[in-house]
Amino acid sequence: MSSDFPRLLSPLELKSVTLRNRVVMGSMHTNLEDRDWHIDRLAAFFAERARGGVGLIVTGGYSPSREGWLWPFACAMLTEADAERHRVITTAVHEAGAKIALQIIHGGRDSNIPNNVAASAVTSPLVAFEPKALSEQGIESTIADHVRCAELAKSAGYDGIELMGGEGFLINQFLAPHTNIRTDGWGGSAANRRRFPVEIVKRTRAALGENFLIMFRMSLADFIEDGQTFEEIIALAKELEAAGVDIINTDIGWHESRVPTIVTSVPRAAFVGYTAKLKAHVTIPVCASNRINMPEVAEEILERGDADLISLARPLLADPEWVNKAAASRVDEINTCIACNQACLDHTFTRQTVSCLVNPRACHETLLQLLPTRHAKRVAVVGAGPAGLSAAIGMAERGHHVELFEAADKIGGQFDLARRIPGKEEFSESIRYFRRKLELTGVTVHLNAHTTAEQLAAGDWDEVVLATGVRPRVPDIPGIDHPMVLSYQELIREERPVGRRVAVVGAGGIGFDVSEFLTVAGNTAMKLEEWQAEWGVTEDEQARGQLTTPKPSPAIREVTLLQRKTGPFGTSLGKTTGWIHRATLDAKGVEQIGGVNYERIDDRGLHISFGPNREGLRVIDVDNVIVCAGQESVRDLKDQLETLGVRVHLIGGADEAGELDAKRAIEQGTRLAAEI
Ligand code: NAP
Ligand code: SF4
Repeated sequence: MSSDFPRLLSPLELKSVTLRNRVVMGSMHTNLEDRDWHIDRLAAFFAERARGGVGLIVTGGYSPSREGWLWPFACAMLTEADAERHRVITTAVHEAGAKIALQIIHGGRDSNIPNNVAASAVTSPLVAFEPKALSEQGIESTIADHVRCAELAKSAGYDGIELMGGEGFLINQFLAPHTNIRTDGWGGSAANRRRFPVEIVKRTRAALGENFLIMFRMSLADFIEDGQTFEEIIALAKELEAAGVDIINTDIGWHESRVPTIVTSVPRAAFVGYTAKLKAHVTIPVCASNRINMPEVAEEILERGDADLISLARPLLADPEWVNKAAASRVDEINTCIACNQACLDHTFTRQTVSCLVNPRACHETLLQLLPTRHAKRVAVVGAGPAGLSAAIGMAERGHHVELFEAADKIGGQFDLARRIPGKEEFSESIRYFRRKLELTGVTVHLNAHTTAEQLAAGDWDEVVLATGVRPRVPDIPGIDHPMVLSYQELIREERPVGRRVAVVGAGGIGFDVSEFLTVAGNTAMKLEEWQAEWGVTEDEQARGQLTTPKPSPAIREVTLLQRKTGPFGTSLGKTTGWIHRATLDAKGVEQIGGVNYERIDDRGLHISFGPNREGLRVIDVDNVIVCAGQESVRDLKDQLETLGVRVHLIGGADEAGELDAKRAIEQGTRLAAEI
């Protein structure tokens, strides 16, 4: 056992199983669950995490009935044949020494199917169909479906089940007055609203006996109007314990909540206060979750006695070896989840196979492998941004001799800019990871290296990889060279002072980031209390849904964000994160003007007009204009090298600036490393 994290690595004895440590892999829907032919890939995905040392794995959610499908033909555990298919998963995980529980999820009104059912006929803002309120008989058969699903899980070899009682799915819908307006024995009072989950637990325990793990994932903060109060949540936990639950896992927010719960701007371990409060009222183990991504954070939570277990979901997509690395005091080798959602949740909700921005092998374990090479080559990689770094470490890991040439005095490329944006501090962890991997894999790094084509051609390399990145686009606006104009890079690196009134040209991801950067004082991470005030989050036990009136801090500058296209702002932002950036700019009073023509920039400010006839001429009186008009590829070396007869591989922004995207860059670098 490592002395660094003694609590995290200590076993936990439960009635039915002993967990080898306190790390639970939280449930994630990878989209591999939905198709039977992906079951071997899913088993490989879980097995890699089990070999990586995790104590208990919880699968993605399986519906106990077709009525509970999250979408048509989504995964379900309905028959003996389904259970039999799952044996490949349970066997693989058990062989690697971990335990595994099947999560049972019934979508209720969030099921995107025409015959969806719910506690009451209250339509979800997330789906197109009005649900039918379950009759009393319907409730009884839904409880029976859950019990049957648990029995099938047991016959499939699962050590237990987790009942999904959070995130606004069916059980949570019964619990919250927002969605349960029944007046019979299953609604009305808080005690009646609790009956549905408590009956499921009682009957599952009765059917399966003591030798089976029952976890319950509880919403500790609904973050919706007319959600549960914390007093009601405590009462539920006590009843669940009495009914036979072994572990309470915790959950924060509903999918429709307008409070961010897992993105990178949420402070680490932001919701552990709720977990600690709940733990004081029960004797069964309680598991903390949300924005816990490094072992020291997890250990502190356990040390304070705020929780007994730690749930990590996305951090185990990012690094399957997370637990083993913590145990071996190799924390600096952890590939940290930066909570970007770009390859995980954004994929879940667009029905693409989930992966991870910083680890493209996630959910592709059988398809993307970095196997030892039999023919070690000499490889030059030019550019130490995300694409070049992932290519370099991937190739070196395979046994190639890699030298990395970077013109700047540090590695990181666009990540070195991103880490300076308030709320994106986690990007520093990725740079730390890459730096350590370069050392471990023996890549020779040349900084301040302005490599020429001639030098590369003379190097007699077997392979040359160009990952030279991008330069900011300079739009053709009269006055663009006026001293009041800064590129976003100059702004973020704080190379020049910026006044109080600022116009931002271009409203892509960087325009949004820059607008946020301009409105806040300093670029340090927000403290938890500030963040709670910003979003109207309270720990008051009587407040419904744990919500109060938001009190955002005032913007320190007047910012105007502009785009040429008409229509809404921020449509290019991530599916699960875009609304947060839009809400933040609204809260900071950032003026947004679309459909503009940029006429010129002069001492009076930025002159704009509208439409093809250049009408409505207006001057935006500002001290500075920040240009965020996209990028252009830097690939001058490519043609020069090809003229000299050197074949090159072009990756990342140097290959495609229009889609400048770290997810694509890292995946491209890793795939190239697997192929060379
Ligand atoms: P971008 O998304 O391509 O946006 C640049 C914007 O500048 C365009 O939407 C365009 O809008 C405008 N523009 C383009 N050419 C122009 C010109 N000649 N004159 C004036 N305006 C022009 O690029 P980005 O904002 O630099 O972001 C780059 C990439 O970084 C994104 O693709 C994204 O993947 C990533 N990123 C994402 C986030 C996030 O999701 N939160 C944050 C940062 C970066 P109009 O033509 O309508 O004006
Ligand atoms: Fe974490 Fe981003 Fe990877 Fe998702 S894609 S696991 S949020 S680093």
